[in-house]
Order: sequence, then structure tokens, then C-alpha cells
Amino acid sequence: MTAHLEVDSISKVYGVVTALDQVSLAVEQGAYVVLLGPSGSGKTTLLSVIGGFTVPSAGRIAIAGRDVTAMSPAQRPTTTLFQDYALFPHMSVAGNVGFGLKVRRVPGPEREKRIAAALELVGLAGYGGRGIHEMSGGQRQRVALARALVVEPEILLLDEPLGALDLNLRRQMQDELLALQRRTGRSFVHVTHDQEEAMALASLVVVMNKGRIEDHGSPKRIYERPATLFTATFMGESTQISGRVSGANAVETVIGSLHADMTHPAGAEVVLIVRPENIRTDGAAIDLGTARIREATFQGAHYRVLAKAERGDQDFVLRLPPDQVVEQGAALRLSCRAESLVVLGR
Ligand code: ADP
Ligand code: MG
Repeated sequence: MTAHLEVDSISKVYGVVTALDQVSLAVEQGAYVVLLGPSGSGKTTLLSVIGGFTVPSAGRIAIAGRDVTAMSPAQRPTTTLFQDYALFPHMSVAGNVGFGLKVRRVPGPEREKRIAAALELVGLAGYGGRGIHEMSGGQRQRVALARALVVEPEILLLDEPLGALDLNLRRQMQDELLALQRRTGRSFVHVTHDQEEAMALASLVVVMNKGRIEDHGSPKRIYERPATLFTATFMGESTQISGRVSGANAVETVIGSLHADMTHPAGAEVVLIVRPENIRTDGAAIDLGTARIREATFQGAHYRVLAKAERGDQDFVLRLPPDQVVEQGAALRLSCRAESLVVLGR
């Protein structure tokens, strides 16, 4: 079986800038793919190459078993939802949603039916006759989604589609996007620089950095077992303890010798990563020494605590339960379980 979307050694060079450097990716049908990375990492360029708006310098794109590399955007079984939605302000909601069908010469009655179905799909049944200016920000977003889905693309491409919305609406639209993807069974490829959004949506997270794919996998795997230091720091918070491998499964650090399972050879420079929720105060197997609280902020479900080792220059970020009294300067004996330490090369 070939993948539904195949990105095969795609490169894109702009003068001296390499926007994409031999990117390869295989995506199964019905996946919710999130391209995650900092600004300038090549996310938009990759999406645009998949959609046919950018011609790659090298490489090949196949969708549903067909090579689409030489096809125009309109010929491809994809539609793209741009960040600004690009709705036609002078057209009605139905006019906007039906535009792609009109271009494809779908006859009137069939068009009406599909417009109504698409509006229903996004929760806007009965809004067809309204003007775009009568719709709220969230509703416009839904109109744009209906317009993109009405032509039944194999793949829906979304470039930072929620970037302009406030936090509450963004969360709500995330839920709706996910439900929409499940209902339609289409593959979605969604660009964001927001790791929380990636976690909320993705079945497959693709972490990009400097035109390359750093890591890809389920959000859980990437969070718990990041492949690289870049991925670990981009996908959530962590305490990072630098050290040097001193022998079999031992790392010398400023807070002492720590035991961790690893394949790195003696002498290797490594970083040990621990996620905040995995740092404990109940004497778990790996002793991380005593640290003093520098800052504690109440987050509702927990305190987010910044602490500094008593000996050695080492910062910690951890969580404490909301019912615990946390005071600046208080000493905590920190520890974690052996499996909570991730060892990464520097
Ligand atoms: P992202 O979407 O992750 O922020 P982009 O794909 O937009 O990143 O850009 C990747 C790199 O390619 C950046 O260095 C950007 O400046 C460069 N780039 C993108 N588009 C063009 C263009 N049309 N001309 C020149 N450089 C470009
Ligand atoms: Mg971009």
C-alpha cells in the first residue's frame, strides 16, 4: 500500500535560502497532520508545495497514488484554507461556498444541494442567504471551511487557520476542526507554530526546523520521547540537565552523578530532559538534590514552580498540587523516576 500523501525528497531554494531541504513524509488517509515549527522553518513552503502554489526545486509529490508534482493547484485533489480566509466580501455565504462548484461547472440544483450540505457540516445550516459582513469572525472561519470542503478534496491544507482568533474561539474551532476531520474522513494538513494546538489536533505531528523534519510521530510520543533537543524544547516545557557520560548508564552533572538508560558512549556530551509533571517531591528513584523555590504561579490545576539547585547552577521547572503551600525560598527535595529521564545528544 502506498501512502495517501507522499512527499518525496522535496527541496525548495530561494537564492541563498534553502526553505526546504530534502523533506520526505508519508501520510495515511484520514490523518490529521500538524506541521509544527518556529517562524521560517519551512511550514508554509511545504504546504504550498503540496497545494501546488509553489514549484519545488527538486522532489516529487503524490496524492492517492497519483504524481501531482506538475499539476496546477486547481487540478490537484487539494484545497487550501489561508489564514485570512480570503472570502469574497460582496458575495453571499452561499455564493462563497458554491464558488468552486461554479468554476467546476457543477449544475445549479446539484450545487444548491452540496452548498446546503457543506453549510450543515460546519454548523451554518440556513445561513446561505446572509452577507459575509453579517457574519462574526468564527462564522467566517466556518464559511471558509465549508467552501474548502464542498469540492470534496482528498486533502485539506490549512495555514495557521486559527491565528487571528482569540483564545476561547481558537479552542472551540480546534474542537470543531477535529470533529470535521473525523466526520469527513479527509486528510488534513494544518500549519501552526503553537505546540498546544498541535497537541490538541494532531494524529501526526511533524516538527520542522530550518527546512528539515526534526521529528515526526504521535503528539504523545514526541512529548514523552522527543528525538532531538530541538523537539524537546519546542514541544512543551522541561528541565534540562547537561552532563557528560561517565560510564555505563551514568551521567556526571552539576547536581551529581545521575543514572539513566542510554546508548550514548562514555565521554559523550548529553542533556537529560525531565517534563515538569514528572519531577516529584516524594523520594523517587533518581535523586535530583535540593532546590529552592524562586517563583510559583497558580495555574488552576497546579502551581508552576521555578526552582534553583542549592548546589550547582541548575534550574528546574515543576508542578506542585494546588493545595500545597508554596513559598518563595522554600527548599524541596526533588526526584524523578528513571523512565522519566530522556537522554539526548548535544
Ligand atoms: P514558516 O511558514 O515556517 O514560517 P516559510 O515556509 O514561510 O516558513 O519560509 C521558510 C524560509 O523560506 C524562510 O527563510 C523564508 O524567508 C524563505 N522564503 C519563503 N518564501 C520565500 C519567497 N517567496 N522568496 C524568498 N524566500 C522565501
Ligand atoms: Mg508560515
